[in-house]
Amino acid sequence: MTRIAIYPGSFDPVTRGHEDIVRRSLYLADELIVAVAANQEKEPLFTIDERVELLKIALGDLSGVEVRSFDGLLTEFAREHKAHIIIRGLRAFSDFDYESQMALMNRQLDPDLETVFLVPALHLTYLSSSLVREVARLRGDVSSLVHPAVDEALRAKLGG
Ligand code: ADP
Repeated sequence: MTRIAIYPGSFDPVTRGHEDIVRRSLYLADELIVAVAANQEKEPLFTIDERVELLKIALGDLSGVEVRSFDGLLTEFAREHKAHIIIRGLRAFSDFDYESQMALMNRQLDPDLETVFLVPALHLTYLSSSLVREVARLRGDVSSLVHPAVDEALRAKLGG
């Protein structure tokens, strides 16, 4: 049986932390679909197409990984792709409250779907897309936190 997992998120933009979780997921899954959520309540910095494109560049030709966008319920998307595993990253304990609520809601919607939480490398634990955006907006150096293509895209979008 091919184990298909989905790693959903906004990836606005993809960081070294996301890349780390993708690599770790490949120990668990034969195929990983990185699913970029289109239906965000917040106004994203990058469009859905830009986020997908940056992920594709950052993940390069990692085998067994596919990047797609999705709109609507994650459980429906998982069913369509025959995936039974949802991957989420857990950084600080503060992630836990929201993440466990989501995992339980997704199980309510589809009992055949298991959420697996992965912890990133220690030096990536305090990294988030929102912090990267904030620092980049203030013209700070984020080059060690994101792929060079993301760094360039941030400069193009925000100046600097
Ligand atoms: P969302 O809006 O769904 O939280 P994000 O793109 O911010 O989308 O995050 C997607 C997933 O990646 C979440 O599970 C988040 O906890 C995880 N994640 C984000 N940054 C990191 C990081 N530095 N280390 C580990 N996991 C991370």
